[in-house]
Amino acid sequence: MVQEKKILCMYSGGLDSLGVLYRLLTEPEYADFGLHVHHMHLKNVENRALAESKAIQATFRYFREKGYRNFLYTESGHDYSFMRRYFTFDTYWYAFMAANIITADSSIMHVAVGRTKSDMESAGSRMNANRGHEIFHATLPLELRFDRSYIYPVAHLTKQAVWNMLPADLRELSWSCRKPVISDKEPRPCGKCPTCQEMEKIRQNQG
Ligand SMILES: [Zn+2]
Repeated sequence: MVQEKKILCMYSGGLDSLGVLYRLLTEPEYADFGLHVHHMHLKNVENRALAESKAIQATFRYFREKGYRNFLYTESGHDYSFMRRYFTFDTYWYAFMAANIITADSSIMHVAVGRTKSDMESAGSRMNANRGHEIFHATLPLELRFDRSYIYPVAHLTKQAVWNMLPADLRELSWSCRKPVISDKEPRPCGKCPTCQEMEKIRQNQG
């Protein structure tokens, strides 16, 4: 039996990666690939892990109830809160983990990441993305190093366009705030961080 070729989707529960997962589940160009979705619980000073977990569970419930195709889901935990204010970007951890998952399962051909057109307009985001990509290649075993690649299912879309593309009841389930506040044991968006401000603009302009 020929083993099914797969796409690995690194899923944070945020809007960009929800856009990626949605396109992987709905676009014909990805239909021949099996789907493996992985989430990293990244524990850092921003304290987003709980909010992201809840968002992920809510989006999976949505996909299940609406009868979208099946996928394998795995998760892992990584606590780097010891670094305190010294911040390391999510893209680096995700790149390292993706390469390790491929090392374990070489039927994964591509890693789908949530880079948007808006990200590509920022020099800082571009640098982080490139560095993540280098970590990905450096971590792969030599025989796979130039044979496995990143794909960018929402790279042609701005963040606004990702929001507009998604069904209204699905996009509300994504999590975007960088620094959630906990009230009544529920994480809520802070309303102040750059991502919250960006989301407010996006909601105002939604189609
Ligand atoms: Zn916020």
